[in-house]
Amino acid sequence: MSFSPAQIRRDFPVLREGKVRYLDSAATAQRPEIVIRAEADFYTLIGANAHRGVYGLAVESTRLYEAAREQIAGFIGADTDELAFVRNTTEGINLVARAWAAHRLGPGKAIVTTVMEHHSNLVPWQMVAQQTGCELRFARITPEGLLDMDHLQELLDERVVLVAITHVSNVLGTANPVADICKLAHEHGAACLVDGAQGAPHRQVDVHAMGCDFYAFSGHKMMGPMGIGGLYINRQRFNEMQPFMGGGEMIDRVELSHTTYAKPPLMFEAGTQNVGGAVGMAAAVRYLQRLGMREVEAHERLLGGYARQKLARIPGVKVFGPDPDSGGTGGVLTFTVDGHHPHDVAQFLDHAGLAVRAGDHCAQPLHKVLGVIATTRASFYIYNEMSDADALSEAVSDMLKHRASVVPGASDAMEMLDYYFRNPVARDPIPEWEVEKEGVNSLCGDELTIRLHVDGAAIKDLQVEARGCKVSQASASLAAATLKGKAVDEAMEIISKVQAMLTNNGPKLEGELAALNPVADMPARLKCALLAWKTFEEALKDV
Ligand code: PMP
Repeated sequence: MSFSPAQIRRDFPVLREGKVRYLDSAATAQRPEIVIRAEADFYTLIGANAHRGVYGLAVESTRLYEAAREQIAGFIGADTDELAFVRNTTEGINLVARAWAAHRLGPGKAIVTTVMEHHSNLVPWQMVAQQTGCELRFARITPEGLLDMDHLQELLDERVVLVAITHVSNVLGTANPVADICKLAHEHGAACLVDGAQGAPHRQVDVHAMGCDFYAFSGHKMMGPMGIGGLYINRQRFNEMQPFMGGGEMIDRVELSHTTYAKPPLMFEAGTQNVGGAVGMAAAVRYLQRLGMREVEAHERLLGGYARQKLARIPGVKVFGPDPDSGGTGGVLTFTVDGHHPHDVAQFLDHAGLAVRAGDHCAQPLHKVLGVIATTRASFYIYNEMSDADALSEAVSDMLKHRASVVPGASDAMEMLDYYFRNPVARDPIPEWEVEKEGVNSLCGDELTIRLHVDGAAIKDLQVEARGCKVSQASASLAAATLKGKAVDEAMEIISKVQAMLTNNGPKLEGELAALNPVADMPARLKCALLAWKTFEEALKDV
């Protein structure tokens, strides 16, 4: 089929009106009407449990559920019984950690993963390591953002039981040579798990050809509903697995004293399954199959490559990860802008009608390797087109040209907040202090150190070191200006009022503090604004 994003967008209720350029599909994709309808039809017309009743509706529910399994398994090249339904990629990986890895690892054994993983493919292995005493090894990346294959090979030896690797990085867009990695893992007697969250939605996947043992992916990132995903389990691993959760439908026979279990995949589907979700996900798969995964992949390469070139040309912009011609997919474009915190960039872009994500993208260790706390990420899918890339680079250029204020959108309060960002308060070192407190918003990378000199129950002097977005810095300055010289009790009272206004619908603030009032209507920025006030509160408790 010929590829027309404009035509595709007509299938998507959220995108149809053209009010937003949606560039956050790496977080979750939008859904076409047929997916929404397929799920709604299940509840409208059937709504019965699968694999339980013998009446007509229940039989139809089972048929639809198993047909969805067949469709989705076929989409990734698996046999139908090799696909277990899970909630999402995270649950799929945790399932493997609990049901397969936890009883095969121990002291003297190792798991190899990489520094580019999403927390979903890192934290479960840390938990297994903690529980079993096994070792965790991390393969490095090259300066270009590719996996360092030489290092990966160095890490492989007879102790390694599992290699757990992402198919495509959600930050760098790097497509890892997963077939080669599976082969290497097997040569060392290890199994290979592939995190397919950013793989299956964007490229042709054939798990048998890839040779992996486990492949986890999420329905919501491929235009399916939220709360449904798939885990491929190579049949050869079936006998090595223990149950994940116990309960209804995962059993063969239950006595009061013991139970025998059903075979995979039902062994891993304890409790009522998400039949509506599975049906919706199968509809998403059919939609993708009609477009053709090779076409989807080619579209993202072209569009991502173009967007990358445009953005990288803007002075002050740094783009991360490899370009599509040398190991990237094009689907993910992660960048920083000199002098602008990623949150501020994302908010400015939001104002320009572009939905992008800012933060650490659930990959804090990778951001440490990249030397940044947070980044801004635009990600592309089938409904995006060249004009989205143009709009993105124009908006970033605009932001740099006009030295955008704290938050776009003029109001007196905003101008005041902007004033406090541009005129930092209490940043100079103070000669003496009794209390020092640090505050961190680890997700967005705002950091703060407060020092207080308190004498006679009054704040005689203070110092603020603030690194982070404009809202967090402006709020820190406003807090410093307001609290300096106040009695501790009075300071605590002011802090409570600010927190109540920001989080509890409390009365609007007056005077200079009114600068914070608009933040109450920006849920995404509340944490940024609150950080300074919370840290001051903690510091004053120590007085
Ligand atoms: N792995 C990668 C590479 C991801 O991008 C994501 C989602 N951002 C996940 C795992 C987790 O996916 P989910 O939240 O659907 O479990």
